[in-house]
Amino acid sequence: MINFSTYSFSGRKVLVRVDFNVPLDKETFEITDDKRIRASAPTLLHILENGGSLILMSHLGRPKEGPEDKSSLKHIVKGIENVLGREVKFAGDCIGHEAKSLAEKLSPGEVLLLENVRFYKEETRGDTEFARKLSELGDCYVNDAFGTAHRAHASTTQIASFFPDDKMAGFLMAAEIESAKKVMQETKRPFTAIVGGAKVSDKVLIVENLLNVADHIIIGGGMAYTFFKAQGGTIGASLCEDERLSTCLEILEKAKEKGVQIHLPVDSIVADAFSTTAVFKICNSKTIEDKWMGLDIGPASQAAFSKVISESQTVLWNGPMGVFEMQAFSSGTKSVAEAVVKATSSGAFTLIGGGDSAAAIQKFGLSEKVSHVSTGGGALLEYFEGKILPGIEAVEN
Ligand code: AMP
Repeated sequence: MINFSTYSFSGRKVLVRVDFNVPLDKETFEITDDKRIRASAPTLLHILENGGSLILMSHLGRPKEGPEDKSSLKHIVKGIENVLGREVKFAGDCIGHEAKSLAEKLSPGEVLLLENVRFYKEETRGDTEFARKLSELGDCYVNDAFGTAHRAHASTTQIASFFPDDKMAGFLMAAEIESAKKVMQETKRPFTAIVGGAKVSDKVLIVENLLNVADHIIIGGGMAYTFFKAQGGTIGASLCEDERLSTCLEILEKAKEKGVQIHLPVDSIVADAFSTTAVFKICNSKTIEDKWMGLDIGPASQAAFSKVISESQTVLWNGPMGVFEMQAFSSGTKSVAEAVVKATSSGAFTLIGGGDSAAAIQKFGLSEKVSHVSTGGGALLEYFEGKILPGIEAVEN
């Protein structure tokens, strides 16, 4: 793979696929969280400081029928200018005459943002002709959009084939790949995977794949209750996917065969309603009374999980242990976050999956105290499900 940090960008127009799918205020269209822009800033500044100019490609939202104002990237021009500290020009169409002429006129150190690539259906279809048109705007291609690496779209995948000797992963993408590889391929043992969140069905593939590599799998959150019901427990009004009962038993069986230890929360914090004002108490997770629902792991589970985590050398965490958004049901997730921090300070490599686990660790102010917090939710999940990510494959091979 071509090395981004040593590649000569001087005088080159660099097409960079970024993931600037940032949240916007529904009325003012102002950016409400510019984390994704800041995450790619080191890549973009590296190119600019080394004499290149930038042509930025991204998607925003899920436009179905072509251009729509609410998904226009014009709304984020100022946000990018704030992060990069320089002017950002904007092309109202990602291909065609205007984009071409603005790209041609770019001088070293200048930045051009193209309109939303998903305004063309060809983008999500992975159309080669559309990718060719995009490729004509620049001299080389950098992919820094880990969040869309699991999609074989024109600007993330097909476009790379037009730059066989000038395609590479930016700093953000490279850091994500390196972290994921540290967990799956250069695994220091013991390796503990922590899986949580609402649904078994969302996490089956990742758990099944992790059974091939992990020493311990901790299962918490709403998904744990389907496991308890499958084992003959009573779970009251807790979350349950009845159609997944046999899947849970199969997972437990496979874990036994492979010598992987599965840890379920022995106790739960149960509440009489899904509400911040609910009455709650602690009980055995397998004997939850009617109308009560498990909304967090209990203190005995917290202690048991913390012990396993803090004795690990590699930790992967995806999904909260309870309804962490409500203060009363956040202590389980917090205790896991603290144990991950403790493992990190003892030398473990710790990777926090995107989405809710990243939000949780940020909420507790612990993001800086773990090895890596991933920016990619779906992409990271698919990586750990054992799938090949087309966006990575395209720049690596
Ligand atoms: P996921 O997107 O599948 O990772 O699920 C994350 C969501 O699961 C969060 O919004 C949590 O509030 C929710 N969650 C976690 N534990 C529970 C639980 N015991 N009961 C209901 N929802 C839960």
